[in-house]
Amino acid sequence: MTQTQALTKTLVFPLDVQSGNESLLHDARLECRRVFTEVLRLNYDGWDWNRIEDVVEQNADLVQNTAQRIIDKAFEALTQYYDYDDWGRPWYKHETFPLRMNYGEGYNLFLEDETVRFRISAKPYNHVKGELRGTQDQFDLHLLTQAMTGDDWHVGTAEALVRNGREELHVTVTNETAEVGAKTAAETVIGVDINEDCIALAALTEHGIEDSIVIDYPEIKEERHRYFTMRKRMQEAGQTAFNDVFRDKEQRFVHDQLHTVSRRVVEWIQRLRFNSPVIVFEDLTDMRDDIEYGTRMNRRLHSVPFAKLRDFITYKAAWHGIPSDDVDPEYTSQQCPVCGHTERANRHKKRFKCRECEHQDHADRGAGVSVAQKWLRKQNNRNVPALNTLPQVRKWELQLRRQASGAVDGPTVVSDTAQGHHPDGIRGVSDQSTGRSPGA
Ligand SMILES: [Zn+2]
Repeated sequence: MTQTQALTKTLVFPLDVQSGNESLLHDARLECRRVFTEVLRLNYDGWDWNRIEDVVEQNADLVQNTAQRIIDKAFEALTQYYDYDDWGRPWYKHETFPLRMNYGEGYNLFLEDETVRFRISAKPYNHVKGELRGTQDQFDLHLLTQAMTGDDWHVGTAEALVRNGREELHVTVTNETAEVGAKTAAETVIGVDINEDCIALAALTEHGIEDSIVIDYPEIKEERHRYFTMRKRMQEAGQTAFNDVFRDKEQRFVHDQLHTVSRRVVEWIQRLRFNSPVIVFEDLTDMRDDIEYGTRMNRRLHSVPFAKLRDFITYKAAWHGIPSDDVDPEYTSQQCPVCGHTERANRHKKRFKCRECEHQDHADRGAGVSVAQKWLRKQNNRNVPALNTLPQVRKWELQLRRQASGAVDGPTVVSDTAQGHHPDGIRGVSDQSTGRSPGA
């Protein structure tokens, strides 16, 4: 049994510009930046949003609907700021802003034999043409042609931007009727425990434990700590401008690394070929105000990666037809997966030792097992297997590449997935920081 849902993915292609001037794209991005900051400025000056929209759109030297996309992006950033106050008042600090366009209006794509040609209307009546180059990942080009020709697919907005000195087009494609397995029919329950420095996965069926793994990512924690210290030092020195730059860098670093982690998680699930898997997380959304859950829970709640990593995994898994679900997080880390005894003293940092049956384990792996057990218990007529021994803990440390320092282009003000809300009603379906615009 499956259910269908719309899935959106952002595909990245290097651009091979063949006619029209490449500097046109640069000029258009400068204009996008001007439009974006103009919206913010007028907003801070107290202008009404309808009036901002009219005035800025009329004065923009961009294709009309491209100007609208940029204005939308600025409103999104402001809304996010007023709703959550996550990262402070939005202001754009990079030299250029991604050129954001509607398919068939600001940009167009044409299929010619095996290649995809593009036409970007950088400015009114000024086109840049060429072809999309494939990446190592030919799968992306395949997906794009499918989206251009398939009935259940559509091509959405795109962003033209420079990344690592290279012209790129980031295109969103949507599959309207992706098939995702029904979670109630799942046979393998993959319990997930997310922490500051690792993620633990345990795969359980009604008959016992299938496998488990702990993926360590100490670098994310270290980098976040390093940035935190730098920002604090600058704050003390009154250097708030530099402060913002570091905040962006940190966000981008964490964002990239979490993508890598989530990819590995889904790879692991696919490689082991589990029967009808469901991924189960702890539901931490309503718990922010509850101090009863102690310092461990609070630390996890207030570390940004939790929600983001969860969203990335959910999204990538759904793309492969794997559903996700959640359970109440209460006591999962204190409960013994073997005898069920629950006591805070069972757990001490990364070590778990049951006060009742003396079962010992890696604490996070054990929490993953508890999450899976909890999900099975919640279903009707499901057997929760008795566990006597658990397989040895396997560890997998990610060798995450540190990002070279220096300016990187890209949209940095808005993080579409950070809140986990999305117009499609799917948690964090946006795969890149360049999510899908509401008008797409
Ligand atoms: Zn026990």
